[in-house]
Amino acid sequence: MNILIADDDATNRTILLKFLEKWGYTVTVATDGAQAWEILQAPGAPNIALLDWMMPGIDGVEVCRRLRTLRPTPYTYLILLSAKFQKQEILDGLNAGADDYITKPFSPNELAALLRSGCRIVELQDELLKAREALQIQVSRDPTTGLWSRTAILEFVESEIAFARRERSCVGVLLADADHFKKVNDTHGHLVGDEVLHEVGMRITQCLRRYDAAGRYGGEEFLIVARTPTIDHLAMLAERLRATIAVPEMATRLGSVPVTISIGYALWDSAEPLDRQTLLVRADEALYRAKHLGRNRCAPAQANPPAAETVGLSVSTSNPMGSK
Ligand code: GH3
Ligand code: MG
Ligand code: MG
Repeated sequence: MNILIADDDATNRTILLKFLEKWGYTVTVATDGAQAWEILQAPGAPNIALLDWMMPGIDGVEVCRRLRTLRPTPYTYLILLSAKFQKQEILDGLNAGADDYITKPFSPNELAALLRSGCRIVELQDELLKAREALQIQVSRDPTTGLWSRTAILEFVESEIAFARRERSCVGVLLADADHFKKVNDTHGHLVGDEVLHEVGMRITQCLRRYDAAGRYGGEEFLIVARTPTIDHLAMLAERLRATIAVPEMATRLGSVPVTISIGYALWDSAEPLDRQTLLVRADEALYRAKHLGRNRCAPAQANPPAAETVGLSVSTSNPMGSK
């Protein structure tokens, strides 16, 4: 546990430092309020601060007030030190955001007890933050594929639309669905099906750039969001995804399994008034067409036909699953 001592009096600092080090704490020292304020804002700041009330420049109460306004995480437990506390001063200190206070000269036992209670709060806060982080990962990630969850990827589409509106740029969405996936499960079992979904997730990720994202939209359906500037760029990405899934076959515990995907894609140009739902409906219609045209192929939304030379790329004729 790292504790900050902020006091403009050298004797007080020495006494506090001696006790805190004896009790096994790591100590950071500040000689005035401005220095304390700087230390508390920096990354990896001390978890507990002992702040003298009266300091030149920024006093201890002001440091409390500023820190509580900023509300950085993790929480810093603040203890005020003063030679004499009036009832109103105690109230002012607590209202400014101090957690506790101690009168100078302090009894070492009292200070030790206050610090122990501070440690309990800081540790509890730490556990809560870790649990919150774990929950966030749990709800935002899909465990089978390692991709974003449906909720997370839909939020991502929304934020990409907002970004494109600001930047007057485009958002591309691709809906990919594994072909005849029921047959994979029926032939090789559900566990192999899961392995395949995981591998599909990995291969999709390999095809993406830094600003793109992929999520599991449904059972064997994936939603990919990409900052592609034109429909032709999006068509090329779709084809790259399709080809990366089709070859080589998926390696599973029961040997290699041929798997293909069909993709429907749609581009939103910020000049057009459009919402997320409409964009996804367009991609879904295109996916339906890709399936209908024979699977293992990509189809653009009818609202954005690609230039002639990329059409050839977006229609593939190979179909290892031997479907219609
Ligand atoms: P299509 O080419 O028309 O998409 O055919 P399909 O068989 O892929 O489509 P259908 O909707 O008939 O079946 C989807 C299958 O995906 C059935 C379901 O059991 C399987 N599936 C969905 N989620 C999971 C999963 O988490 N694990 C496994 N192993 N299979 C899943
Ligand atoms: Mg399917
Ligand atoms: Mg499906």
